[in-house]
Amino acid sequence: MMNRRQFCYAAAAGAATLARIPNAFAATYDLLIKGGRVIDPSVGLDEIRDLGISGGRIVAVEVNLAGDATETIDARGKIIAPGLIDIHSHAGRTKEGPVMCLQDGVTGFVDSGSGGADNMDQIAANLRTAPQIGRALVNIAHTGLARGGELHNIDRANVSLAHGAIARNRDVVVGVKARLSADVAGPNDLEALRRAQEAAAPFKFPVMIHVGQNYSPMRAILPLLKRGDIVTHLYAPGANGILDEKGSVLPEVTAARRRGIMFDFGNGVNDHFDWATVERASKQGFWPDTLSTDWNVMSRTTGVVDFPNVMSKFIMFGMPLSQIIACATVTAARVFPAFDDRGTLNVGAPADVAIMELREGSFEFVDNYKGTRSGRQRLFPITTVLAGKRTTSRA
Ligand SMILES: [Zn+2]
Repeated sequence: MMNRRQFCYAAAAGAATLARIPNAFAATYDLLIKGGRVIDPSVGLDEIRDLGISGGRIVAVEVNLAGDATETIDARGKIIAPGLIDIHSHAGRTKEGPVMCLQDGVTGFVDSGSGGADNMDQIAANLRTAPQIGRALVNIAHTGLARGGELHNIDRANVSLAHGAIARNRDVVVGVKARLSADVAGPNDLEALRRAQEAAAPFKFPVMIHVGQNYSPMRAILPLLKRGDIVTHLYAPGANGILDEKGSVLPEVTAARRRGIMFDFGNGVNDHFDWATVERASKQGFWPDTLSTDWNVMSRTTGVVDFPNVMSKFIMFGMPLSQIIACATVTAARVFPAFDDRGTLNVGAPADVAIMELREGSFEFVDNYKGTRSGRQRLFPITTVLAGKRTTSRA
């Protein structure tokens, strides 16, 4: 038994220990991100704030948070955004892909049709080792994405094989992909899309279609899409795109958006966008719903580079920064239930955070036709926080 005097002594000794090494235990936060410009479109926030993180979750978003932390990041002069969600990626092709794009701020992604029934098991195995949430769309062609075009033979669009691949990988597959451009599908585009819908239906999955230089016009393709489906490469130039001969956005396209079809950017490398189409459509107010990269491990040296570089192209076109961040976070997260609680820095959410820097200068951006344009601002990835833990940054 301690008497009162001994108890006071023990308590004082404890307090002294606390004072000497304040961060050793009982820190208020595991991680404190201090003084950054927090842009969280999910709650309409764009202010200087501190972010307190504990137990892998956001626990406080305040001005000048009091309390100590096990680790602190000085984020003055930086942008603090929810972790980026890239819904059109090919990061699942290798085990290295997810680790690489995590350094770009990507805390969730969808490998979009790299694999079909033949190779989905391998893609899924890569995705299960990803540090962040990595999901996949199964290509309706059982070969997966193939050079020369996987749908010139329509027999490759095999619904029961796709069902098998989904059933074997229910933890990873979140939708179905169909590439419908003429060089991939030729005149099989509409039948391939019908089969993609048939593959998706029992699972209530969205279908993502890749468009651009299609054999069939948009007015024939769009009626085959349902609410929640995604059109990627929305600014693809050439025949049968979203613009009519005079450059006006087709009424069928704006009607599709009104009934809940999502229009995604999908930067990519070949024939997916040119500056003129971005300019014409955006001047009519037709911006993407979601931004995405069409990224793979080779993209560092193409015009894609990283997700913040893709986002920066829209700064150049005058899209408000908060809207750009919404397209890469909360709106993207809402396309797939796998990202239900992501894309936000709201208190209680998993602490996935993209710390970026908006640098001023002269930056050259490239479209898919070697067209270059110069912008005055570029977002750079600085640090990614995943589930409350700081990850390694890009060298
Ligand atoms: Zn792609």
